[in-house]
Amino acid sequence: MKTILSCQFKLECNRFLGLVTTREDFEKREFVFGEENVRAYFKEAKMELPAFFDVIDPLPDYEIRPLFALNAQPGPPVAKDVYDLAEGTMLQAIRDLKAQAQAEGKDPASVPSALLLALHGAMVAEEHEDAEGDFLESMRNAVDPDCPIFVTLDLHVNMTKKKAAQATALFPLEFYPHTDFYENALKAARCLIDTLEGRVVPAMAIHELPMLFPTLPTGHESFLPFREEIGALNQEPGILHARFTHGFFAADVREGFGTTLVITDNDLPRAQRLADDLAERIYAKRRSFYRDCFTPDEALREARRLLDSGVHPPIVLADVNDNPGSGSTQDNPELLRAMIDADLPAMFSTLFDPESVERAYETGLGNEVELDLGGKLRPDVTGGPVRAKARVLQYSGGNYRNEGTFLHGVLHRLGKAALVEVGNVKIILCSIRVQPADRAALHLFGLEPETCPVVAVKSAVHYRASYEPVAGRILEVSTKSLGPIDPRALHYEHAPKDAYPLQGLDL
Ligand SMILES: [Zn+2]
Repeated sequence: MKTILSCQFKLECNRFLGLVTTREDFEKREFVFGEENVRAYFKEAKMELPAFFDVIDPLPDYEIRPLFALNAQPGPPVAKDVYDLAEGTMLQAIRDLKAQAQAEGKDPASVPSALLLALHGAMVAEEHEDAEGDFLESMRNAVDPDCPIFVTLDLHVNMTKKKAAQATALFPLEFYPHTDFYENALKAARCLIDTLEGRVVPAMAIHELPMLFPTLPTGHESFLPFREEIGALNQEPGILHARFTHGFFAADVREGFGTTLVITDNDLPRAQRLADDLAERIYAKRRSFYRDCFTPDEALREARRLLDSGVHPPIVLADVNDNPGSGSTQDNPELLRAMIDADLPAMFSTLFDPESVERAYETGLGNEVELDLGGKLRPDVTGGPVRAKARVLQYSGGNYRNEGTFLHGVLHRLGKAALVEVGNVKIILCSIRVQPADRAALHLFGLEPETCPVVAVKSAVHYRASYEPVAGRILEVSTKSLGPIDPRALHYEHAPKDAYPLQGLDL
């Protein structure tokens, strides 16, 4: 029996937030240890670990042991104790396997047969700027030099030379919204088995561009030709994987923002040539990837005009900058204020405001209360709260599973939550920050965004997977935040200031 060790260890880090992401922050989202618990946790989810199980469990000669699954809401760097726990758990499992092999008179170098890991790639930890690079280096030092280390990664991986050097093969996602966690992980697991069986020899090359890539859907018209080309490249004979990864500029790291990656079957010169060629052509189009958004008031005027001209509801207003998925506070009320002023029938998903949730619970269902909505975490950035008289409509424990193709079946926790109404606007207030990308957040309260004239979501891109099928039109709205979609809006300490589009800016 060949043993493959596995884990999920993810966090997308935003270094502009201060503080650290603690064990408690992981416990609010995913902090699961032990094989049985991990398998039970992911039972309904179309994610990486279930894909690994689906490929490897049916094989009689192989077993996969998932040790843990860790993930938290995107936030500041990972606390040292959490990073050490993840690394230490993996290293201990490797040592245990080797000791067991020795006791059985086998060669300890032969175990584990491989590592198959689900990482994010834009993690910073307290003592590790390139957290996954250092994590992979630790794993590489603990296993036999020939032991394959296969890793799935987010599209927003900061693709460093160290990550590429320590892993055998890296499998970043292809799409944004990320609708391909499961399929991408199937591909990685199958390629690992092919490698272990000697059917392929992965040869991986990367090419990093001197460019901070903005938060851009892969279906955006400026990128669509490249998306199609990358899709076709993945179908070519001898190509095991090909991607363009975006990096995560708010991690404010030194390396790895926009990178091409090609893995061939045993042909490194071809992999490098293809990676170089694709990178150069993407760089030549760099100006086209940056786009303008509406201000909140402009967006409401445009929504009214569209509805008056017969565009079907809902008009979806995406607060693309105050996206908790980029580490933003999720409590900027600028768009909410504009919606209240516009007085169109509307829904707002969702505002992080534990204080107002408590006030709503004290007030009682059906009653009115004056609330200071949002604007509490970083009033220096968001401009502070909006005061409004609200009617309390519903309470909820706030758990739901995504219904659409993004994080399908994955549990989302809003914490203690309430639905309140200000004028014509129904607002979900929550106590845990989580990206409300899926319509399931509104369905939890019995709301039907499919027929509401205006629906606001705090999400940069992932909401498109759920809302594009029903939206009459989508308008991107810009508000102030520490997790914006445009790299020019932040003041970097570590990122290369000579990279596009930072050159010449007074940052
Ligand atoms: Zn991502």
